[in-house]
Amino acid sequence: MTKLWLNNQLLDQQQATISIEDRGFQFGDGIYEVIKVYEGVLFTAKEHIDRFYRCADDLRIVIPYTKDVMHKMLYELVEENLIDTGHIYMQITRGVAPRTHFFPNEGTEATFVAYTQTAGRPLVNLQEGVKTIFREDIRWLRCDIKSLNLLGAVLAKQDAHELGCYEAILHRGETITEGASSNVFGIKDGVLYTHPVNNLILNGITRIVLMACCEEMGIPVVEVPMTKEQALAMDELFLTSTTSEVTPIIQVDEQLIAEGTPGAWTRKLQQAFEQKITATISV
Ligand code: PLP
Repeated sequence: MTKLWLNNQLLDQQQATISIEDRGFQFGDGIYEVIKVYEGVLFTAKEHIDRFYRCADDLRIVIPYTKDVMHKMLYELVEENLIDTGHIYMQITRGVAPRTHFFPNEGTEATFVAYTQTAGRPLVNLQEGVKTIFREDIRWLRCDIKSLNLLGAVLAKQDAHELGCYEAILHRGETITEGASSNVFGIKDGVLYTHPVNNLILNGITRIVLMACCEEMGIPVVEVPMTKEQALAMDELFLTSTTSEVTPIIQVDEQLIAEGTPGAWTRKLQQAFEQKITATISV
């Protein structure tokens, strides 16, 4: 039986139920994380857990476990479910209370859920690259919080899906922010460009690892917003996320990038990222 955490109970997945008055269900009043598991080892667990607590704090949601306990709970789940390669999805909401927009009474406990999924690595996309589209970024102005409210991303991603594309690259006016569920990077003349960390993007954990790779490899990084035009003029484009890793972008709308094949810099960064994974699982 596959198990999940519902608050502090490890339950069979079929047994778990959530109230219709849960604020996550009614308001999207909560946050989430996705952590990749490689060969039974959680990749960048500390960074994901730190971000989970930081986002909860920003929304004044109290997580009733220490970070250490959370870490142990996640490992227990992975071991219990015999996950080799896959991921953990976890979320916490402001809890169950009669529906009012303002926060419920003090003492209302948050609802925590974590479950696992077996999922291989996206090997075809990593090898061949993906097609993308541009879409206006209609999300709220706290994209630095990994909120359960994902409608802006859902609508953009659906457009991409209907057009046979993997991702929507979001832009506010002419300025690119990030992907609907990824961070976006460009490379021009050996320099890496990406949006700076502020309220308009989620500072991806994969982004952080990638930037560390750049530093180790001596690749200059410029954190500056790119316009759509500048992005299309890049030598290479790629995106990063926990599940997508470092995925080459070979097309945006009708325009091919790097003649429609993954570029040499992207390949080097993929290799560097691969080494980070290897280093984690061989500890
Ligand atoms: N930006 C957005 C909007 C995302 O939803 C995600 C991941 O889901 C990312 C960036 C990448 O973040 P991470 O590398 O931590 O998965």
